Parts: sequence; structure tokens; C-alpha cells
Amino acid sequence: MDHGLMKLVDSGSNFARYQFGDLGVVALRDGYVDMPPTRLRREGGAAFDKPPAGTHLVEGQLRLSVNAFLVIEPRRSILIDTGASNAWLPTMGGLYDSLKEAGIERESITDVALTHTHEDHVSGLIAPDGSNAFPGAKQIVVPKEEIRVFKGRLAGLRDQVTPISDGFRVSDRVTAVTASGHSPGHTAYAIVSSVGTLVAWGDIIHVPSLQFGRPEITWEFDSDQPKAREARLTLLNQVAQPNCLVAGAHLDFPGIGYVHKRGESFEFEPVG
Ligand SMILES: [Zn+2]
Repeated sequence: MDHGLMKLVDSGSNFARYQFGDLGVVALRDGYVDMPPTRLRREGGAAFDKPPAGTHLVEGQLRLSVNAFLVIEPRRSILIDTGASNAWLPTMGGLYDSLKEAGIERESITDVALTHTHEDHVSGLIAPDGSNAFPGAKQIVVPKEEIRVFKGRLAGLRDQVTPISDGFRVSDRVTAVTASGHSPGHTAYAIVSSVGTLVAWGDIIHVPSLQFGRPEITWEFDSDQPKAREARLTLLNQVAQPNCLVAGAHLDFPGIGYVHKRGESFEFEPVG
């Protein structure tokens, strides 16, 4: 079913550019990370003896796509999350090449908005050569609970950092929505265009083959498991409507689509 809100206008192996009403949206591939299925948690916190039926595995591992998203407004280009650069595994850090492939100059990015400060979201602020990866960014928006990460490798960016809380307006179109649990300040961004709303929800779902259908299942790295479960259920219920889409940092690339409610569970319908 094509609801027609998000129109694919250009794509390559590592980017997909959409017209979303009067805004542009570009999905950008940073790479992927493989994790063992033992990272999954049932209610009560125990791991599974074996992965639940239907879990998609690649050579016995969960393969999490790592995505970032660019929102293009008439006078602003807002990058949501920045990938891992060279700070974690060599399977990540592709964001700069993905931008190049999409024909987007890093210098043209005016704002960076972070969903949270885990390595695969924040580390891309610094390029592998140690330079500021987005020197044109006037502000780096970070949930206030996680501001302390701006030290060491990231210390040089401290002056650009804006600590934010729920409801902060990154621009006229992009507003922060607190969805904590995965991390203390974990934040989604609601992007409002002339045709609908796109919610860039960060790490609300890590394993799409499983957690839409069974949203009670959590992730070892959720800092507060019950809160992460509650945040997922709240957001899933909010976005399951026809004029709303989601963009997920770990949904299979390009990571954008519609959520449908089916009884107590949910289904994801990716856009092309
Ligand atoms: Zn993540």
C-alpha cells in the first residue's frame, strides 16, 4: 500500500532521497553492526535460550543497520545522528561517503540533532582524521542528560552544543520528543512537513524482525529496561496512523516506513 507521503526521488547503494511534502529527507547508511541474539531480553530481564521464532539472523547474529537521516528545509539542513566514524567497528563509519554519493557537502549541514550519545550515533561528529566532520553546523543538539559525553575526543565541540529537553524546537519543523529508557536522555525528533509527520525515533527498535511484533522485548543495552519498553509502546501507538512515518537508526536501510497496529502488536511497512 502506497500512502504517497514520502516520494523517492533519487537513490544509490548508500543513500535514499525523498520528497516529503515541502521538505527533503535523505536516509544515509553508516554501515551495520552484528550482535549476538543473547542481547535480547524478555520481560523480567532474562535472555532467551534461543532466539524467538521469526528473528532474522545473519550467520547466527542479529545484523543492525546503522542509519542517519538528513532533513532539508529551505534554509537549514539538519542531520539526525552521525554514525560511528572510526570509533567502533570497521563495518560502520560510511556516513561521509554516503553523503558524497548523495551529492551533499558535509559543510552544508547547518544543525546536528542527536537522539542519544552511544558510539554509533555521536562519534561521527569527528571524522577519522580527527577534524570536525560538520564544520558548518551552528548547533549540535543533545539531550541534556547526556551532555557529559562532550569531553576527550569530542571536547572541541563543546561550544556548539545545545543541551535540550522535551519540546525543544530544533527548527520551525523539527521538535524534540523525549523517549528515554534506552539511554537516560534518549530523544525522538518529530519532523512536520506539509503532508504529514516523520518521527526519527533513534533506538526505539533494535531488531525490526522481532520488536514490532513483540514490543515487550528489550535490549541488553537499554539502560532502563521497563522504561525503554514503555517508551517503545507509547511511540508505536502514537505513530500508527496514516499521516505519520518513522525513521529508525537501526531499521533495515533506508529505515523509513509506516507503522500499523495489529491488536496488541505492530507491523512495519517500509517505503521504497
Ligand atoms: Zn544505536
